[in-house]
Amino acid sequence: MQWHLKESACAGSIIAALAIGTATAQEQLPKGREAVEIKDGVYPASYFPNTEILGEQEMRITALGTGMPNQTKAAVSISFLVELGNGDKFIFDIGSGANGNLFSLRPDFEQIDKIFVSHLHVDHVGDFMGLHVGGWLSGRYTPLRVFAPSGSTPELGIKSYVDGMQQAYAWDLQTRTGALPDEGAKIEVTEFDYLQENEIVYQENGVTIRSWPAIHSLDGSVSYSLEWNDLKYVFGGDTYPNKWYVEYAKGADLASHEAFLPHDALAPYFGWDLSQATYVATRVHTEPAAFGKVMSEVQPRMALGCHSVLSPENYQAILEGVRTTYDGPLTLARDLQVINITKDQIVVREASVDDYALPPAVSQAYIDAPRSEEKSPSDQVLSGKWEGYTPPPMPDGN
Ligand SMILES: [Zn+2]
Ligand SMILES: [Zn+2]
Repeated sequence: MQWHLKESACAGSIIAALAIGTATAQEQLPKGREAVEIKDGVYPASYFPNTEILGEQEMRITALGTGMPNQTKAAVSISFLVELGNGDKFIFDIGSGANGNLFSLRPDFEQIDKIFVSHLHVDHVGDFMGLHVGGWLSGRYTPLRVFAPSGSTPELGIKSYVDGMQQAYAWDLQTRTGALPDEGAKIEVTEFDYLQENEIVYQENGVTIRSWPAIHSLDGSVSYSLEWNDLKYVFGGDTYPNKWYVEYAKGADLASHEAFLPHDALAPYFGWDLSQATYVATRVHTEPAAFGKVMSEVQPRMALGCHSVLSPENYQAILEGVRTTYDGPLTLARDLQVINITKDQIVVREASVDDYALPPAVSQAYIDAPRSEEKSPSDQVLSGKWEGYTPPPMPDGN
């Protein structure tokens, strides 16, 4: 593998590193690791990214973030990656801190181009611009497509959010435009009615994604279902237990839903009094016993609870709360938990990732994608280059 470091005119800072060649993520694996098919439904005990060929009929869901807005090292804010046997990949929410876990999986960023957002709290969209720019740097040369609900007024919907982000990051986006593929700078927004009930948001390549309302803080939180190949994944947005989820999540193979900290754990966690903690845990969110009630109605093949911090004492409290009302298959999700789903079984494991995982290689199509002129500081600023330093010559002699 050769690397060509492309230096911008940006006063000595390297802003793009482009791989020469078309090595895949699998080809860059350390010696001794290679992608293999899973035979007879027997998986390795841990999931090592890019070492397993996803079955054609199979769905793999990886928790990128399962925690709270005030994230911990063990639990960043909410995000899930869904990968299908047909090659499609989808992100559901991209809360603060989730990008680190996504990048540690070394995914093919050409495919990480569709994100579905449940609502616009920072613990669900905080890493949105990091995903947009980080993915653009790492192999995506097409627009990022974002699907998310409207709000009760125009400024509370996803269009307004994306407009604002593009304004706030105008400097960042302009510096990279030219060095990176032009189309990758774009964001395509689909804003749908937050009140729609089980209506289609997305339908391509055999995949159907629907949304329905959730009850949370303000209007404009939703839940999603993804159906493909007779498998159904449900992603619950932050919510008080709601009738739409109970109805439309039915038939799910994996149904995710918040199982928030119980009020008597939430109070010391935030330093709140019990009244405020009870209000938030049982009026704005779904406490563990309520999560269990919902799942007893939905009866998924597996229930997934998240949006908490599973320290030992909390884990026990949440588990006991859920088990007062639900005795079915359950996982209380941790970051980088991996769930493989086939018609025959659901397998829950942890991913094993490198702390210094390199970004994945980019494709020849990415290298060849059109770029406009690179940007540069003004002559006035460039005139301030210190004469006491001379950079080494560029490899191509320029
Ligand atoms: Zn929220
Ligand atoms: Zn939240």
